[in-house]
Amino acid sequence: MFGAVTVKKGREKKLRNGYPWVQRGELASAEAEDGALVRVSDMDGAVVGIGTYNSLSRFPVRMLSLNDEEITQEWFANRFNAASAVRERLINGTNSWRVVSAEADGVSGLIIDKFGPHYVFQVRSLGMEKLRSLWFPALMDVFSPESVMERSDMAGRKEEGLEPVAKMRHGNVPVTTEIEEDGFAYTAPILDGLKTGFYLDQRETRRQFAERVQPGEKVLDLFCYTGTFALRAALKGAEPVAVDIFKPAIIAARMDAERYKLNYPIVEANAFEFMEEGPLGPYDWILIDPPAIAKTADKRDSLKWAIWKLVHGAIPHLKVGGRMIVCACTYQMGLNNLLETCRLAASDRNARFTLENVTYQDLDHPMPLGFPEAAYLKCAWLRRDA
Ligand code: SAH
Repeated sequence: MFGAVTVKKGREKKLRNGYPWVQRGELASAEAEDGALVRVSDMDGAVVGIGTYNSLSRFPVRMLSLNDEEITQEWFANRFNAASAVRERLINGTNSWRVVSAEADGVSGLIIDKFGPHYVFQVRSLGMEKLRSLWFPALMDVFSPESVMERSDMAGRKEEGLEPVAKMRHGNVPVTTEIEEDGFAYTAPILDGLKTGFYLDQRETRRQFAERVQPGEKVLDLFCYTGTFALRAALKGAEPVAVDIFKPAIIAARMDAERYKLNYPIVEANAFEFMEEGPLGPYDWILIDPPAIAKTADKRDSLKWAIWKLVHGAIPHLKVGGRMIVCACTYQMGLNNLLETCRLAASDRNARFTLENVTYQDLDHPMPLGFPEAAYLKCAWLRRDA
């Protein structure tokens, strides 16, 4: 029942080390239907494991298991339980987290996020799409969700030969739901928000920022999405300004400010234009958290240029002694590259900075060493020196 795939000599090594993707040029042979399960072997005929196959994909083989085993509903339930066990030790203070992080939890192509009792999943590969009748019941069994929404409406699906889909799959997920984090409530626009609705991955950065921001400080939260950084600042008695271009996020940000009877500017605008038109500073903090822009290596320069421009634009509005948190949410821009980009922008402004802190995606988005691409989000905390 498995298709058969052989990888070229030496390519099995990284797979055995936990790397989940095989590129087209790494295949010696493939006999399988698109979307089928395949048994992956090395050139000596030894089985490497089981994966899914899709000739249309940039990664025609996505590994699921390093054992020669059947993939069943129970197999998925075991993976989901293992993912939960890991998070039990690492995630606290919230009712919402990424319960299954695709490749990083050994389930290539499937993301599941929990927002209180509501669950949202995203299917990113044809192989995972074809296995739906196995993992969906496992999801229902293991997590007992009140409701489940599918948010597979991202552009990347096209590359897999799949259409974007956004659909209710069980019960009724509300348009927005309130999630809890560190004793506060945030609005998550699950139905019409970006990705699965909320940036759970910024939890740790949010937390550290909330600890460090001081009453009376002025904060610019650029690319604020639902404005959680701005909200935490305002709750501490600081004076935030939040900016994002996306209407549903702005609406959610305003709902959150209202819930706490806080009043601060939440601006629907293009961040680049906002910076040019005079952003109400000077600020003690400027947060810059732009979208990934570069999901693939060929777009690396566009992200670098965007970050350079944003940092360059921000510096005149940042007090000496103030802080900038600059985030890059793609593996394509590593920490060194991000710091170098900030340094070049600072140098052009004749400004000096010190790196005070680095934060990463929170641990419900695991980072297996054998799969470097899983470590995508890094935030550099830079203090402006005199
Ligand atoms: N800081 C947010 C996550 C930001 S994600 C959080 O912690 O929740 C990137 C955000 O950039 C998205 O909300 C998107 O709507 C916004 N965005 C994309 N292009 C933009 C632009 N040109 N100007 C302003 N916001 C933009």
